[in-house]
Amino acid sequence: MTREHMIDQLGSYTKEWDICIIGGGATGLGTAIDAASRGYKTLLVEQCDFAKGTSSRSTKLVHGGVRYLQQGNIKLVTEALKERGLLRQNAPHLVKNQSFIVPNYKWWEGPFYGIGLKIYDWMAGSLGLGPSRLLDKEETLALAPTLDGEGLRGGVLYHDGQFDDARLAINLAATAAQQGGVLLNYMAVTGLLKTNGRLKGVQAKDALTGKGYEIKAKVVINATGVFSDAILKMDEPGHESIIAPSQGIHLVFDKSFLPGSAAVLVPHTDDGRVLFAVPWHNKIIAGTTDTPVSPKDNASLLEPRAMEEEITFVLQTIGKYLTKDPGRADIKSVFAGLRPLVKGNAKNTAALSRDHHIEISDAGLVTITGGKWTTYRKMAEDVVNIAAKQAGLAEKASVTEQLKIHGWKQGVDFTTDTYYYGSDEAGINALIHDAPRLAKRIHPQLPYSAATIVWAVQHEMCMTVEDALSRRTRALLLDARAAIEAAPAVAALMAGEMHKDEAWMKEQVNAFTLLAQQYLPADIH
Ligand SMILES: Cc1cc2nc3c(=O)[nH]c(=O)nc-3n(C[C@H](O)[C@H](O)[C@H](O)COP(=O)(O)OP(=O)(O)OC[C@H]3O[C@@H](n4cnc5c(N)ncnc54)[C@H](O)[C@@H]3O)c2cc1C
Repeated sequence: MTREHMIDQLGSYTKEWDICIIGGGATGLGTAIDAASRGYKTLLVEQCDFAKGTSSRSTKLVHGGVRYLQQGNIKLVTEALKERGLLRQNAPHLVKNQSFIVPNYKWWEGPFYGIGLKIYDWMAGSLGLGPSRLLDKEETLALAPTLDGEGLRGGVLYHDGQFDDARLAINLAATAAQQGGVLLNYMAVTGLLKTNGRLKGVQAKDALTGKGYEIKAKVVINATGVFSDAILKMDEPGHESIIAPSQGIHLVFDKSFLPGSAAVLVPHTDDGRVLFAVPWHNKIIAGTTDTPVSPKDNASLLEPRAMEEEITFVLQTIGKYLTKDPGRADIKSVFAGLRPLVKGNAKNTAALSRDHHIEISDAGLVTITGGKWTTYRKMAEDVVNIAAKQAGLAEKASVTEQLKIHGWKQGVDFTTDTYYYGSDEAGINALIHDAPRLAKRIHPQLPYSAATIVWAVQHEMCMTVEDALSRRTRALLLDARAAIEAAPAVAALMAGEMHKDEAWMKEQVNAFTLLAQQYLPADIH
């Protein structure tokens, strides 16, 4: 999968696409797989990098949603639990079975959460990841030794899925390409093409070369998450906003704050939410928040900033439950994401299926938004059903329930640094075999070899140092300081592969450093 090849395909493959998808996050990528695997001529364009938006900033859970169960949203939980099971089958290299502990400090919490989580097990049926059970205090502390033991009565153990969101996105892009789809990152939609009031395609601009394109398509799908309103307004300038973005942040700490393999779920925070502390790539990620925000422009939608109050809230909440309180100086990285929540006033609703929203405009633009990572496949199936009808395409059933995701491999050893490459691990090892210098790590504190960067450039459409350190590897999220220090070495490796000069390397390192500093709290740069 190379960008040059994709650009060639854009020019030569077809004069008119069946389906053109705007947005390369979970929703758009899932849609590209669904459409391409049905045999439709499919193009996806992403203004930045795949998963640059919300889809690289999640809590990394493939879950039914214990919170939605608390809210009584049975339909959503059942659907998400089914999707959790399907994703684990179709991407076993990316989805792990993660045990969670709900610590109990009050007498009623054990029976209350115990029963709730039994219902959760029961709803997952044969796709369950393991039975939940009540733990006494000793068992709870054996699994989570740094939980505050004072007043602890016991805990409830349950299972959910955990994944690497941006890595799944990259593997989804590869899967869509294998199914015959054409996918382009750094290709922004700047306008819509219309004839007699009907949508006929999009105008796009290559962000790397500045070249403009007119792309004809039988139907256009707007899968741009929190950017949906901008596309809706390109279609109808007076369109009311349908998105109410809500920000969630995560803090990343050293694993010593929560050693062991279990995650912790705080079931009721001061603001009435749940808070997670989850082991991830040998670090702990803690979050999240739910802060309504009104970003003013594209740049602040693309790179939301954690607020001081949010950082303090997560630090204080997690600190209440751990023996060793993490402080600001312990933060390895802080990342923020925006939930594309749909306002109650959304009109033209074609399908308000559980928590995702699909609408069709008068000109024929199909917009899909809301939902969650876990349900991306079902969202894609629903929107392709609607879009195919809209475009008058031959009816074909979705095949994605059984479709293996690129990298599929059974018997993955989750203790290795590169497990999430699945079947691609062999390719990375072959690079090292041919050039042993590529075994060297890009930074002593980061678990990534030089070979993973070369692999990303050769096979994963990695175009910038940020792509390499944020979404092909997860260095920026795991340790922002180490990522900044690794940037020059990564730029040099990429320049070698991409035939770029010193000026490119310098510009890339500067841009990445400026960005990565935003992933550290202001006072500890
Ligand atoms: C804090 C937080 C935690 C979460 N945790 C979980 C979790 O643990 N599990 C779970 O299942 N879900 C979780 N979610 C939800 C999940 O992350 C989102 O539902 C999902 O990522 C949304 O994907 P999307 O593709 O709709 O949007 P996005 O990922 O934002 O993708 C939209 C894309 O469209 C592109 N775009 C915009 N305008 C244009 C244009 N003009 N031309 C071309 N491209 C354009 C953007 O650059 C962007 O990449 C979480 C969300 C948040 C915010």
